[in-house]
Amino acid sequence: MPSTNAKSQIKRAAVVGGGIAGLSAAYRLRELAATREIPLEVTLLERGDRVGGPLETIRRDGFVIETGADSFLSEKLWAAELARRLGLGAELISTREIYRRTFVVRAGRLVAIPAGFSLLAPAHLGPVFRSPLFSILGKLRIALEPFIPARKDDADESLESFVTRRLGREVLERVAQPLAGGIYTADPRRLSIAATIPRFVEMERRYGSVIKGLRAAEQASAAKNRDVSGARWSMFQSFKAGMASLPEALTAKLGGSIRKSADIVAMSREGARWRLVTSAGDATLADAVIVTAPAYAAARILSPVAPRAANLLGQISYASAATVNLTFKESDFPAPPEAFGFVVPAIERRKIIAGSFSSLKFEGRAPNGAVLARAFVGGVLQTEMMRSSDDEIVAAVRDEFRTLLAIIATPQTVDLRRWPDSMPQYEVGHLSRVAEIEKLVAEIPAFAIAGAAYRGVGIPDCVRSGEQAADRIFDALASDS
Ligand SMILES: Cc1cc2nc3c(=O)[nH]c(=O)nc-3n(C[C@H](O)[C@H](O)[C@H](O)COP(=O)(O)OP(=O)(O)OC[C@H]3O[C@@H](n4cnc5c(N)ncnc54)[C@H](O)[C@@H]3O)c2cc1C
Repeated sequence: MPSTNAKSQIKRAAVVGGGIAGLSAAYRLRELAATREIPLEVTLLERGDRVGGPLETIRRDGFVIETGADSFLSEKLWAAELARRLGLGAELISTREIYRRTFVVRAGRLVAIPAGFSLLAPAHLGPVFRSPLFSILGKLRIALEPFIPARKDDADESLESFVTRRLGREVLERVAQPLAGGIYTADPRRLSIAATIPRFVEMERRYGSVIKGLRAAEQASAAKNRDVSGARWSMFQSFKAGMASLPEALTAKLGGSIRKSADIVAMSREGARWRLVTSAGDATLADAVIVTAPAYAAARILSPVAPRAANLLGQISYASAATVNLTFKESDFPAPPEAFGFVVPAIERRKIIAGSFSSLKFEGRAPNGAVLARAFVGGVLQTEMMRSSDDEIVAAVRDEFRTLLAIIATPQTVDLRRWPDSMPQYEVGHLSRVAEIEKLVAEIPAFAIAGAAYRGVGIPDCVRSGEQAADRIFDALASDS
């Protein structure tokens, strides 16, 4: 039995926000406490009635339907490593490589993105010249890229500025905006290249050209693969039973530590501890706190104790989006698309920003003879869609599928899911704002922030961000006990 003395030494940590960053932070704190044999009580406080954020899966009639995130990048190892520690290693699956192609809408038709094109630039010019995606002038402009002088200064730049400067406006409008901008559902005039795809900035700096940089990367990876034996992962991974497997496994481990319907609105000092207050007026005391709620919520919580950090957090803006999942009979698809999906450039002026064929991308997403497809709607360039009713959004998606994919059949099922204010916008200057926030937050005792708002929106980045915050907080708690 623990002595009264040992009991009084139990430390308490609170994690605010039950998305993947918060769950990862809470679990990491538990792992550290167990390994270092330090008594620690962890409480996760979530505003809503569920945890996991955009990792949400509907399992119904043999379908595995993702209403939010549908996969994660495998080259960033943190999500898969967490999954393995949770015993989910055997559940990891990778994309079906035979369908690994993406189309882009061009003048109302689906055109394959030229082979070797990586987000905003090609490694090779041959496929670009054979593609109907660009005009002759556009192609010549791309071919000039290796001869465009590299920028010398380090100032941040927008996606639009970087791409038009190096490769021309056609690449921006027809590929980079829908592909690179689409990940962030962002406005390319505002999206920071340094905060989102820094490897291209690095290529320009190192090779004087992104085309040369992509070729060098290709050669390096070919050399590496020659030395590697055994199975190789594809670019994207998921779980057999869907993305929700990850938050579900974390929830099972964290059990009673999770408190839902806890909308934290403020924090203050009470002696040596933090006092977190909910909108209902309940208070939780903790020796250390990690806030993983979106930046606008973190701003509100922090404003009584760190107004300057709160002000900067409040400057990070967010976009809203929605997904519409539709199920069809295979026979409803006149010409089955052999691709993961397609993106829709803003200049096409359509009502969806992307479409994907989930049951081609991963095995086991739909029963035999059925197809699961999905459309992405909204983002910064389509805010008017988010003001539409559910019926109007579904009608718009069906209309676009009819025009672009010739699917006239009525879907068997439709699931619309809205994700309001869920996509942090990494605007030009984001990295210096985040560095300033981190500096101010580091001065607050036993406190950390984590989540998609800062250094990566992808799931592996959010896992890492949560775990790093837990490491810092745990060190502060352990050195105190
Ligand atoms: C539709 C969509 C599709 C995506 N697809 C992919 C994908 O395929 N692959 C990929 O890698 N990434 C994808 N992303 C991005 C990725 O899923 C997110 O960036 C990531 O899940 C965010 O995790 P988080 O924990 O930082 O934030 P969130 O998941 O937003 O969690 C924050 C939590 O804090 C809670 N909260 C808010 N305010 C308070 C408060 N005051 N008190 C207590 N709790 C509060 C919220 O309810 C929420 O649960 C997608 C995002 C969206 C929206």
